[in-house]
Amino acid sequence: MHQTSDLPGRVQAYMQDRQADMLAFLRKLVLIQSGSRNKAGLDRMADAMAAAMPTPMTLQTLAFPDHGNMLVAKTPAAQAGEKQLLVLGHTDTVFPADTAFNFYREDEDKSYGPGVIDMKGGLVCGVFALSALAHLGLLEQIPVCMFCNSDEEIGSPASWDVICREADQSFAAFVLECGGKENEIVTGRKGKSGYRLDVRGQSGHAAQAGQGKPSAILELAHKVIALEALNDPPRVSLNAGTVQGGIGPNTVAGHAEARIDIRFTGEEDDRRVKAAMDKIVGTPAIPGVACTLTYETGRPPMPQTPANERLFEMVQQQAERLGQTVRSEFRHGVSDANVVASRGVPVLDGMGPLGDLDHSEREYMLKASLVPRTCLLALSIWHCSRSA
Ligand SMILES: [Zn+2]
Repeated sequence: MHQTSDLPGRVQAYMQDRQADMLAFLRKLVLIQSGSRNKAGLDRMADAMAAAMPTPMTLQTLAFPDHGNMLVAKTPAAQAGEKQLLVLGHTDTVFPADTAFNFYREDEDKSYGPGVIDMKGGLVCGVFALSALAHLGLLEQIPVCMFCNSDEEIGSPASWDVICREADQSFAAFVLECGGKENEIVTGRKGKSGYRLDVRGQSGHAAQAGQGKPSAILELAHKVIALEALNDPPRVSLNAGTVQGGIGPNTVAGHAEARIDIRFTGEEDDRRVKAAMDKIVGTPAIPGVACTLTYETGRPPMPQTPANERLFEMVQQQAERLGQTVRSEFRHGVSDANVVASRGVPVLDGMGPLGDLDHSEREYMLKASLVPRTCLLALSIWHCSRSA
């Protein structure tokens, strides 16, 4: 019998037998508190992922003094320097160590817990997809790298360069964020830029100041209104999400600041909005007040390129072989798929299980999606690597 004949059936049989193991591993990962700043928990996550990786993979732990350890796992072919398929997952969650949301619970349909869908469920998919291919004797033949970073939820400051380095050695990448509600796969994402707007006025006694006083708060109010007018849905959204300033009601505010989040569809939107922002920021409404805009964090857009569409069609064919229907989704939030996309490497995101309400204490994963999604990932990894 040819090694890959009835591969869908054999992958499904492997996974059906291990549904309980998958949920047990998910429970184990969710019970490791691993907020982005929780180095001890993140180091344990890296250990747990390393321990679960199937045998033919070579493991390398990347240690960072100020971030959780990260894990690079490569098959022999990838280790030997062949162009590889990159599988990306993050071990961190948005929940700090002292969160009250520190349990794992299941009911008939759902699993609940911190990071259960963002993205510990995705990590389970990654491990078991690779394990299935290893079990079937296929993993040694293909060049695959799974990289688990620990800082995605804070903008991937330490892992950004590693993602770029691994992406540059890859012909394609899959990211394990959750799938869409209707079994979608993410073929594109908006980009994001985060800015801090600082306003410097001149402080003084409120009773002595009159019209036209150099209040940083008043200037900031003008700026927020002008900046919010740049909203241009659906291509561009701009949100002044925090404001802060002043020391008391009897004092003219010497300083005020706002934090601004911008989402854009293409690089040209980003450039256009930035130019408009610079103009607004450089034109004070009140004499004697100065504003500065500082870029803090962001990710480039992930456009729905023809190469992403072709990769999606390959995944869609594998879904059909499994009796599944998948659709393509353009998602508004950003992820590490945006970083991969910036290197010109075809990438799909949303390859993890289905669920919702991530970043909230009602976060859940649909248990019934875990096996089908892992089967789809395994088949997609195999076929993508074979046809590369
Ligand atoms: Zn995530």
